[in-house]
Amino acid sequence: MLLCSPRGFCAGVVRAIETVEQALARYGAPVYVRHEIVHNRYVVESLKRKGAIFVEELDEIPDTGAPVIFSAHGVPKSIPHEAQRRNLFALDATCPLVTKVHREAQIHHRRGREIILIGHAGHPEVVGTIGQLPDGAITLVQSVDEVARFVPRDPDNLAYATQTTLSVDDTAEVVAALKARFPKIHGPPKEDICYATTNRQEVVKKVAPLVDLMLVVGSPNSSNTQRLREVAERAGCPRAMLVQRAAELDWSACAPIKSLGITAGASAPEVLVEEVIGAFAERYTVSVETVTTADEDMFFPLPRALRREAVAP
Ligand code: SF4
Repeated sequence: MLLCSPRGFCAGVVRAIETVEQALARYGAPVYVRHEIVHNRYVVESLKRKGAIFVEELDEIPDTGAPVIFSAHGVPKSIPHEAQRRNLFALDATCPLVTKVHREAQIHHRRGREIILIGHAGHPEVVGTIGQLPDGAITLVQSVDEVARFVPRDPDNLAYATQTTLSVDDTAEVVAALKARFPKIHGPPKEDICYATTNRQEVVKKVAPLVDLMLVVGSPNSSNTQRLREVAERAGCPRAMLVQRAAELDWSACAPIKSLGITAGASAPEVLVEEVIGAFAERYTVSVETVTTADEDMFFPLPRALRREAVAP
């Protein structure tokens, strides 16, 4: 087994989960969480058992003094406004790297630029970023073809931003197509794909050509997890599969293999990776080697209201 490193939890996911846990510890149950705090069923279920109540929209929450937490993916501006109107106690667990994209978009808008967002329609992060600005200020493009069809208001006054969890290579193609069509377009120095997405894809590219099968531990609704599976296939791995829990492993699809790569999406806890390794160790004689392409020491502080110094003496 070749174990990809880095894999699994990123700093934004750690912060989001700790936000819910700290809110539960400090204010007691229940705490309300709008949308899955991170895209992982195991994480969501374990927080539910501790007293978190997950909702899709604020109107599912009664008038309450309990904390209401926004997920790591970010929310449209209308959500904190609505929370304030209802006098709810909101805690924002939006990843700071998503907030950075929101700020970039706001700056472009203030400078009068029409904004193109590269991302996947319907993903909560895309909904949140588009919702930072008035309707029509941001146009979503998902592919090189959509770049070709895009009709700008002024081709010389454009900017772009990206979802943080995209395929690095696909996005480079879309950005190149934008720059070829609109040479004056403004954008970030590279793209807005976050360090965690980039690093997890990088190590998968290294391991994928060396193994018969790549298993990506994570949830199907997690964008960065899905991208890891695609990256593995494109990097030359004969087969790449998502797996949420060891119990769901399709053993007939796993055989016959001599070498296996394992990685995990940014919202998948390490305990699930260990579970999968354990399941293979029960059936096969395994030796595990870790392949490391980057060291990560990123850390994001909790929302201000939950920081230790915020506790009254
Ligand atoms: S994947 Fe990237 S943007 Fe998303 S929570 Fe993790 S660090 Fe933040």
